[in-house]
Amino acid sequence: MAIRQIRVEGDEILTKKCRDVKEITPRLEELIGDMIETMHDADGVGLAAPQVGVLRRIAVVDVGEGPIILVNPEVIEADGEQTGQEGCLSVPGKAGIVTRPNHVKVKALNEKMEEIEVEGEELLARALVHEIDHLQGHMYTEIVEGDLFEVRYAEEDEEDDSEAK
Ligand code: ZN
Repeated sequence: MAIRQIRVEGDEILTKKCRDVKEITPRLEELIGDMIETMHDADGVGLAAPQVGVLRRIAVVDVGEGPIILVNPEVIEADGEQTGQEGCLSVPGKAGIVTRPNHVKVKALNEKMEEIEVEGEELLARALVHEIDHLQGHMYTEIVEGDLFEVRYAEEDEEDDSEAK
Protein backbone atom coordinates (compact mmCIF):
# COMPACT_ATOMS: atom_id res chain seq x y z
CA MET A 1 0.00 0.00 0.00
CA ALA A 2 1.07 3.52 -0.56
CA ILE A 3 -0.02 7.04 0.22
CA ARG A 4 -1.34 8.80 -2.87
CA GLN A 5 -1.27 12.48 -3.63
CA ILE A 6 -4.56 14.19 -2.83
CA ARG A 7 -5.85 16.49 -5.58
CA VAL A 8 -6.91 19.91 -4.37
CA GLU A 9 -9.74 22.22 -5.38
CA GLY A 10 -9.09 23.76 -8.77
CA ASP A 11 -7.99 20.41 -10.21
CA GLU A 12 -10.41 19.66 -13.03
CA ILE A 13 -10.65 15.97 -12.12
CA LEU A 14 -12.68 16.91 -9.02
CA THR A 15 -15.47 18.28 -11.24
CA LYS A 16 -15.86 15.12 -13.36
CA LYS A 17 -18.38 12.31 -13.04
CA CYS A 18 -16.97 8.89 -12.17
CA ARG A 19 -17.63 5.65 -14.02
CA ASP A 20 -19.19 2.58 -12.42
CA VAL A 21 -16.92 -0.28 -11.40
CA LYS A 22 -17.71 -3.52 -13.24
CA GLU A 23 -15.12 -5.73 -11.56
CA ILE A 24 -12.44 -5.36 -8.92
CA THR A 25 -9.18 -5.75 -10.80
CA PRO A 26 -5.85 -6.03 -8.94
CA ARG A 27 -5.28 -2.35 -9.80
CA LEU A 28 -8.55 -1.31 -8.16
CA GLU A 29 -7.83 -3.54 -5.17
CA GLU A 30 -4.54 -1.70 -4.75
CA LEU A 31 -6.34 1.63 -5.20
CA ILE A 32 -8.78 0.80 -2.38
CA GLY A 33 -5.93 -0.12 -0.02
CA ASP A 34 -4.07 3.05 -0.91
CA MET A 35 -7.21 5.17 -0.43
CA ILE A 36 -7.70 3.82 3.11
CA GLU A 37 -4.05 4.47 3.93
CA THR A 38 -4.16 7.94 2.40
CA MET A 39 -7.37 8.84 4.29
CA HIS A 40 -5.91 7.68 7.61
CA ASP A 41 -2.59 9.41 6.98
CA ALA A 42 -4.40 12.70 6.28
CA ASP A 43 -6.69 12.27 9.33
CA GLY A 44 -9.76 12.38 7.11
CA VAL A 45 -13.10 10.65 7.67
CA GLY A 46 -13.58 9.91 3.99
CA LEU A 47 -11.92 9.88 0.61
CA ALA A 48 -13.30 9.43 -2.90
CA ALA A 49 -11.35 8.00 -5.86
CA PRO A 50 -11.32 11.26 -7.89
CA GLN A 51 -9.49 12.90 -4.97
CA VAL A 52 -6.54 10.66 -5.83
CA GLY A 53 -7.04 11.17 -9.56
CA VAL A 54 -9.12 8.10 -10.45
CA LEU A 55 -12.55 8.58 -12.05
CA ARG A 56 -14.20 5.43 -10.70
CA ARG A 57 -17.17 5.15 -8.32
CA ILE A 58 -15.18 4.15 -5.24
CA ALA A 59 -15.14 5.85 -1.84
CA VAL A 60 -13.87 4.98 1.61
CA VAL A 61 -15.25 6.32 4.88
CA ASP A 62 -14.00 5.93 8.45
CA VAL A 63 -15.59 7.90 11.26
CA GLY A 64 -13.56 6.03 13.88
CA GLU A 65 -15.29 2.66 13.68
CA GLY A 66 -13.09 1.16 10.99
CA PRO A 67 -13.00 1.72 7.24
CA ILE A 68 -16.09 1.21 5.09
CA ILE A 69 -15.43 0.52 1.41
CA LEU A 70 -18.11 1.70 -1.00
CA VAL A 71 -18.10 0.63 -4.64
CA ASN A 72 -20.79 2.17 -6.89
CA PRO A 73 -22.58 3.68 -3.86
CA GLU A 74 -26.03 5.23 -4.11
CA VAL A 75 -28.10 7.02 -1.49
CA ILE A 76 -31.40 5.14 -1.27
CA GLU A 77 -32.89 6.94 1.74
CA ALA A 78 -32.22 10.36 3.23
CA ASP A 79 -34.13 12.13 5.96
CA GLY A 80 -33.76 14.69 8.70
CA GLU A 81 -31.39 17.61 8.59
CA GLN A 82 -28.11 18.61 10.22
CA THR A 83 -26.27 21.87 9.85
CA GLY A 84 -22.65 21.90 10.87
CA GLN A 85 -18.99 22.18 10.07
CA GLU A 86 -17.67 20.24 7.14
CA GLY A 87 -14.23 19.99 5.59
CA CYS A 88 -12.59 18.14 2.74
CA LEU A 89 -9.09 16.75 2.22
CA SER A 90 -9.16 18.48 -1.18
CA VAL A 91 -9.68 21.86 0.52
CA PRO A 92 -6.89 21.65 3.11
CA GLY A 93 -6.98 23.83 6.22
CA LYS A 94 -10.50 25.10 5.57
CA ALA A 95 -14.03 24.28 6.65
CA GLY A 96 -17.51 25.64 6.14
CA ILE A 97 -21.09 25.23 7.31
CA VAL A 98 -23.14 22.77 5.29
CA THR A 99 -26.65 21.37 5.75
CA ARG A 100 -26.95 17.64 5.08
CA PRO A 101 -29.50 14.92 5.83
CA ASN A 102 -29.14 13.62 9.38
CA HIS A 103 -29.80 10.02 8.40
CA VAL A 104 -29.03 8.19 5.20
CA LYS A 105 -29.11 4.68 3.89
CA VAL A 106 -26.62 3.82 1.16
CA LYS A 107 -26.60 0.84 -1.14
CA ALA A 108 -23.20 -0.18 -2.49
CA LEU A 109 -20.89 -3.05 -3.27
CA ASN A 110 -17.93 -3.95 -1.09
CA GLU A 111 -14.40 -4.79 -2.26
CA LYS A 112 -15.62 -8.32 -3.11
CA MET A 113 -18.47 -6.91 -5.23
CA GLU A 114 -21.02 -8.11 -2.65
CA GLU A 115 -24.07 -5.93 -2.07
CA ILE A 116 -24.03 -4.03 1.19
CA GLU A 117 -26.20 -1.44 2.88
CA VAL A 118 -24.73 1.18 5.14
CA GLU A 119 -26.91 3.26 7.40
CA GLY A 120 -25.54 6.34 9.10
CA GLU A 121 -26.54 9.25 11.26
CA GLU A 122 -24.84 12.55 12.02
CA LEU A 123 -21.11 12.45 11.09
CA LEU A 124 -21.40 9.14 9.22
CA ALA A 125 -24.40 10.43 7.21
CA ARG A 126 -22.49 13.63 6.43
CA ALA A 127 -19.38 11.71 5.35
CA LEU A 128 -21.39 9.32 3.15
CA VAL A 129 -23.20 12.05 1.20
CA HIS A 130 -20.03 14.15 0.96
CA GLU A 131 -18.07 11.27 -0.61
CA ILE A 132 -20.92 10.25 -2.94
CA ASP A 133 -21.11 13.89 -4.10
CA HIS A 134 -17.43 13.66 -5.09
CA LEU A 135 -18.27 10.73 -7.39
CA GLN A 136 -20.70 13.06 -9.22
CA GLY A 137 -18.03 15.75 -9.51
CA HIS A 138 -19.44 17.88 -6.69
CA MET A 139 -17.66 19.57 -3.81
CA TYR A 140 -19.09 20.85 -0.52
CA THR A 141 -17.86 24.32 -1.45
CA GLU A 142 -20.73 24.51 -3.97
CA ILE A 143 -23.34 24.32 -1.19
CA VAL A 144 -21.50 25.96 1.71
CA GLU A 145 -23.50 28.48 3.75
CA GLY A 146 -21.44 31.64 4.03
CA ASP A 147 -17.66 31.78 3.70
CA LEU A 148 -15.09 29.09 4.33
CA PHE A 149 -12.96 29.59 7.43
CA GLU A 150 -9.53 28.44 8.52
CA VAL A 151 -9.31 25.42 10.78
CA ARG A 152 -6.50 24.02 12.85
CA TYR A 153 -6.34 20.29 13.21
CA ALA A 154 -5.41 18.45 16.40
CA GLU A 155 -2.37 16.93 14.69
CA GLU A 156 -0.96 20.39 13.97
CA ASP A 157 -1.43 21.31 17.63
CA GLU A 158 0.54 18.22 18.67
CA GLU A 159 3.34 19.20 16.32
CA ASP A 160 3.34 22.70 17.78
CA ASP A 161 3.63 21.18 21.27
CA SER A 162 6.59 19.02 20.35
CA GLU A 163 8.34 21.98 18.79
CA ALA A 164 7.85 23.98 21.98
CA LYS A 165 9.51 21.29 24.14
ZN1 ZN B 1 -14.20 15.84 0.14
